[in-house]
Amino acid sequence: SFISDKIAAGEVIERPLSIVKELVENSIDAGADSIVVEIRNGGKSYIRVTDNGCGIPAEEAEIAFERHATGKIQTLEDLGHIDTLGFRGEALASICAISRMTLYTRTAESPVGIKLEIQGGRICGKEPSGMNGGTTMVVEDVFYNTPARRKFMRSDAAEASAIIDFVQKMALYYANVAFQLINNGRNVLTTNGDGNYLHAISRVYPTKEFSNLMEIQGEHVHGFISDPGTTKNNRSGQIFFVNGRYVRSDVIEKGLMDGYGDRVFSGYPVALLFITVPPETIDVNIHPNKKEIKFLESGDIKKDIAAAVQKVIHSQDA
Ligand code: ADP
Ligand code: MG
Repeated sequence: SFISDKIAAGEVIERPLSIVKELVENSIDAGADSIVVEIRNGGKSYIRVTDNGCGIPAEEAEIAFERHATGKIQTLEDLGHIDTLGFRGEALASICAISRMTLYTRTAESPVGIKLEIQGGRICGKEPSGMNGGTTMVVEDVFYNTPARRKFMRSDAAEASAIIDFVQKMALYYANVAFQLINNGRNVLTTNGDGNYLHAISRVYPTKEFSNLMEIQGEHVHGFISDPGTTKNNRSGQIFFVNGRYVRSDVIEKGLMDGYGDRVFSGYPVALLFITVPPETIDVNIHPNKKEIKFLESGDIKKDIAAAVQKVIHSQDA
């Protein structure tokens, strides 16, 4: 269709992480405030995402797996102000083409849910399902029908660790959503979804560096930082989101360190920073899977972050 032509194509499923990312983003878009992710063998053999979101009406469940089946944009106009994470309608179509999928879904209005089985893109089972409101997507045997791609997957441990990292970042950003993550039958993360960032941080990073953070607020930045004496020996505790996307950025790192100035004797303070800038001031040509970001007004951002950090550090002296 005309609309789908306007939407850049090409979001491919590269690895189990991509599947978890698409499914969790769909759960967020569905308004869920509870999301359970379960993986086995790094997601290669089994991925389950269960949410308590709006569900998919039974008559729409089958078309959700067709390409460009997005329930999220209706008009070209909508493209200008998208407020959902997904809008291309490609993810489910791509995932079900390369795996065995089972969908369970029920809307609040519907007395009973529906179970759909899809293999290699074809629907091969459909029956009613007694269940709570919301959606469960189960994805098994990733790339079972594309041996070449199966061969290029990383180790189970590497895939699991990338997925854990992703869910941790989501649990930090969406502190108002209760996340649970189960890896090979072991619970590895539980947040309570009470909306308090400090609570989410303490569940995601239950270490001393993150236990006594101070809140900062600038024009473009809001977040939490450690005191200058509480550091790690690498930057793994410096977590940045720009307009909702987890990023790495030299500019933000520099702004943060400038704010501490010579108060930091060694190592890297920890920080969880949420940066909000007008979308036209960041490089939008960056690949969706890359974590680097470019600011067009990098000096302003750096100064704003430094000032917000400095204010809190100096107020400690008083
Ligand atoms: P997109 O997210 O780009 O719209 P997807 O292929 O990811 O496309 O999903 C297709 C459609 O299926 C969505 O637009 C949405 O209407 C529906 N959907 C997918 N996952 C869920 C979910 N967890 N809860 C409710 N609806 C969902
Ligand atoms: Mg989607």
